[in-house]
Amino acid sequence: MTEGVNPFESLQSQIDEAAAHLEIGDDVIERLKHPERVLETNLTIETDDGDLERFKAFRSQFNNDRGPYKGGIRYHPQVSRDEVKALSGWMTYKTAIVGIPLGGGKGGIIIDPDDYSEAELERVTRSFAKELRPLIGEDRDIPAPDVNTGQREMNWIKDTYEALENTTEPGVITGKNIASGGSEGRVEATGRSTVLTAREAFDYLDKDLEGATVAVQGYGNAGWIAAKLIDRMGATVVAVSDSSGGIYNQSGLDPVAAKDHKNETGSVVGYEEGEEELTNEDVLTLDVDLLIPAALENAIDADLAEDVQADVISEAANGPLTPEADATLEEKDVFVIPDILANAGGVTVSYFEWVQNRQRFYWTEQRVNEELEEIIVDAFDALVATLEEYDLDNPRTAAYVVAIRRVAESFEEAGTFP
Ligand code: NAD
Repeated sequence: MTEGVNPFESLQSQIDEAAAHLEIGDDVIERLKHPERVLETNLTIETDDGDLERFKAFRSQFNNDRGPYKGGIRYHPQVSRDEVKALSGWMTYKTAIVGIPLGGGKGGIIIDPDDYSEAELERVTRSFAKELRPLIGEDRDIPAPDVNTGQREMNWIKDTYEALENTTEPGVITGKNIASGGSEGRVEATGRSTVLTAREAFDYLDKDLEGATVAVQGYGNAGWIAAKLIDRMGATVVAVSDSSGGIYNQSGLDPVAAKDHKNETGSVVGYEEGEEELTNEDVLTLDVDLLIPAALENAIDADLAEDVQADVISEAANGPLTPEADATLEEKDVFVIPDILANAGGVTVSYFEWVQNRQRFYWTEQRVNEELEEIIVDAFDALVATLEEYDLDNPRTAAYVVAIRRVAESFEEAGTFP
């Protein structure tokens, strides 16, 4: 990750870029560049040794003009107030581009989960849930998983909230396991939208996905599922990486076996089919047809962008390109499917989970995947229509034009209070 690039400033410059093409007042745009509120809190828990330890945590509620705030909770040592604000803004425009009736929010705790026991993580999570309780609820703000959090943490948050509220309200949080009210298809949803949008982009660009070469940076939930599904679509995954480094095989890797190796050893590095070991940077600059960045923000800066050789990038991660990298890739004619669309499958199936929780009626995986595909393909079509209508060169700008127009419209219809 590139130090020194503030993701909140990246978000604001992306909004400015798109706003230049829209006839929306500067005052409205100014409002759409800032979160409505940010909770900053200090969680103090007792460690297994009986000491007290403090963790700083945030929840940014960016915008609820189109529905309840919605967005994940990240556990990472580099979580910061500005990172959480940026991520909450990206959620706002993500729910808008896919047209689901939700707003944008995001949370995070400054913590390296590897340094703590499961019991300590449970205490941290439940303590955060207690702080979040007045702000969240199925009609207010609905958290979900993000980096280093998953079903386990979501179940703890749900349980804490329900105990304190003396209710059952599974729709207060999404990304739960099935027994706790989760949805079929949620675990695979982010990687699924990443590859569905790649498929649509290849089709739009008249390129063949069958036999196309793919590199995936980051082999967690989003990255590994994207690798598995794109392999099933007939593409060849030649390189994957995680925080320990990358592996490469020109004739293709088996994504499932690479994941098994990571589960056993902690990393994809050392997997026997990887005939060559690469650095993380090498993976990002390989000569491939499709690059899927699926780790953290700012993975590709302007310098690295000069060396990128992929024709299409599908952003599974949030904010993997700095604004300068984005500009360089636009000049190089790389078709970048922006994060707010490419990884929107996660929030879309979270939306389905919330709908199912509210109706207390559950769908099959097939129904989830079919409804997801329809929403993602419609959103891609809206992006392409806008790209052509406004004669834009950058698909990200087109996505923001669609999304900002939708958020601004609902704000302007409602007016201000008081
Ligand atoms: P995760 O924690 O499951 O996986 C992250 C992966 O990135 C790990 O394999 C880690 O080793 C790797 N990584 C970290 N630094 C790296 C580096 N410098 N080079 C290569 N790999 C590195 O997280 P995730 O849920 O897969 O999220 C990844 C990205 O996708 C994040 O930006 C997240 O915001 C975004 N995203 C995830 C979801 C979801 O549903 N999981 C939804 C939308 C967006």
